Amino acid sequence: RLTAVDAPAAIRTTCPYCGVGCGVLATPDGRGGLDIKGDPDHPANKGRLCSKGSALGETLAREGRLLAPQIGERTASWDDALDLVADRFRRTIAEHGPDSVAFYVSGQLLTEDYYVANKLMKGFIGSANIDTNSRLCMASSVAGHKRAFGTDTVPGQYEDLEEADLIVLVGSNLAWCHPVLFQRIVAAKAARPGMKVINVDPRVTATSDLADLHLDIAPGGDVALFNALLVALADGGQVDADYVARHVDGFDAALAQARADDADATGLSPEKLSEFLRLWTGTRKVVTIYSQGVNQARNGTDKVNAILNCHLATGRIGRPGMGPFSVTGQPNAMGGREVGGLANMLACHLDLENAEHRAAVKTFWDAPTIPDAPGAKAVDMFRKVGNGQIKAIWIMCTNPAVSMPDAGDVRAALRGCDFVVVSDMFGDTDTAKLAHVRLPATGWAEKDGTVTNSERRISRQRGMLPPPGQARHDWDVLSDVGRRMGWPRAFDYASPAEIFREYAAMTQLSVDFGKDLDLTPLAELSDSQFDAMAPVSWPLRPDGAAQRFFADGGFFTDTGRARMLPVSGALPRDMRDGAAPFRLNTGRVRDHWHTMSRTGMAPKLSQHLAEPYVEIHPADMARLNLRPADIATIEANGQPVLLRVMPSTKVKPGAVFAPIHWTDQVASSAIVSRLTTKDTDPFSGQPDSKGAAVSIRKFDAT
Ligand code: SF4
Repeated sequence: RLTAVDAPAAIRTTCPYCGVGCGVLATPDGRGGLDIKGDPDHPANKGRLCSKGSALGETLAREGRLLAPQIGERTASWDDALDLVADRFRRTIAEHGPDSVAFYVSGQLLTEDYYVANKLMKGFIGSANIDTNSRLCMASSVAGHKRAFGTDTVPGQYEDLEEADLIVLVGSNLAWCHPVLFQRIVAAKAARPGMKVINVDPRVTATSDLADLHLDIAPGGDVALFNALLVALADGGQVDADYVARHVDGFDAALAQARADDADATGLSPEKLSEFLRLWTGTRKVVTIYSQGVNQARNGTDKVNAILNCHLATGRIGRPGMGPFSVTGQPNAMGGREVGGLANMLACHLDLENAEHRAAVKTFWDAPTIPDAPGAKAVDMFRKVGNGQIKAIWIMCTNPAVSMPDAGDVRAALRGCDFVVVSDMFGDTDTAKLAHVRLPATGWAEKDGTVTNSERRISRQRGMLPPPGQARHDWDVLSDVGRRMGWPRAFDYASPAEIFREYAAMTQLSVDFGKDLDLTPLAELSDSQFDAMAPVSWPLRPDGAAQRFFADGGFFTDTGRARMLPVSGALPRDMRDGAAPFRLNTGRVRDHWHTMSRTGMAPKLSQHLAEPYVEIHPADMARLNLRPADIATIEANGQPVLLRVMPSTKVKPGAVFAPIHWTDQVASSAIVSRLTTKDTDPFSGQPDSKGAAVSIRKFDAT
């Protein structure tokens, strides 16, 4: 089913922003730039692009690019820089053990980069201290999937959005954060006026405009909401008893816990709650989409399982137009999960805690070792950098000094760390400034390999422009360091095609252990076939059968049955109403991405919202003597942050919202991530970015 792409003047590649994974047609304009269009043949977007994707051609400027390795403030040769990296890592491991070093990577790395980083750290260095900024994005979904399904498997596909009669968007501003998926829903709703959309979000967003019902849920109230739904389904005779009997464990315990819950924790009016229950229970084809409002919470994994419980209890899963659907924030969050790029996972959806899985991976890689315990997850990783347990860290393609919660502490930790290596396109990011060694990395238009989107579809990113200066690909630099550290054969890669073939062959282990990830037919691709590879979803099924999971059971737990979990909607005391002066919600704006290192280059992307701001309800503004456009001091973690006040009735009194993107480099404002909390979900390790307690006062310039 692999079809070669014709050789058009335009190069087919994939957008490097969100997890929709839109196909892009990029045509070199002969002046070093690219003309950008949506790829009409890509199944994810069918020619559509959002504002960010459309502006990709304006983000190719090379000013500020890191053009050569740097050791301290001096320019160095690659040989000198990588000898130093290999030597410092080797010596640190010899003196303090393998867990004294770490890699912190990114959902924007390509799968081939991720694969080599994971192989080097877990198979050869012998530590599981590799984690990713995807930990901040979708780790709670991973944990929830594993608890319910036995593997991190997204059951559905994008076509389900067009086939659904009811779409429930939970904690997801899809209109701004996954715009092309949102456009698909807008078009589907226009074509089928009977289709309904419900938006569950404490805040009114652009997504709410499409919704037939907006549920202004209390922060953290999602578990109570879906527990109320489970009770309504049971009491209304809507449970699919046959499906549950054949395929699901844990129904009684989950329902008993749901009955014990108090629906008041949702914070919803009885009318809104009953309308939600009426629509959900009265519609067979329901898709529940969820995103960071679910994942980025101290009870994020429980929220995920509360949603999965309702779909499992009714067999509304893996069928056309039905299922729970976690959408990923980053372009390759899914690819990183496939190759085990998280501190608690092995490649190919195998388990670090399983001795047989570890042995199989060790044999496949012909590796000297495989750690038998999870490594440090993102927040813990930087905590360990701060307390000296991790003495050498290599950060690739991400900017944790800005993006991690309580980012001031991360900066202090990196400042005190013995050895910090940063691979990045730019040498002056907030993180790169703290590095002992800076390595110039290739960027989107130069890189070559694969990414996997939210529906498990693997697409090629193709290099279109030559790397500037001495910039090199991440997989290449990692392999070079692996060879210098003493493993020349294991890291003797000459191309991303070679790495992809090895990864595809490795998925045989997933098949052998009865898991879900099968890419083995792709292990035989020639270089030219890899180059021409069209988008393809896993698992590869020889008969081309539908790519949905679980309609007929077949879960990946030891018993082959899904697990419903008893999850409590009760909130910790400090999250309840009135426990904090204000509750800070964070998120993205329509036209910017992460810390703006790319979108900040396109002037038109700053026309929508040009500076950092905080949305405050007018009643709170009156109480605080704030006027529109005043500067407010927002404070948490002992850190004051200055933000422009934007009056908004889209947030409730007592809640405020601020976008995540702006950094010290772009604005004189300090960064919002200094305010967020390091509290994490106990199962996923994902930090709570949606509910920090903050104080607010009018800025006093005197
Ligand atoms: Fe890129 Fe996402 Fe926009 Fe598609 S929806 S063009 S993947 S940012």
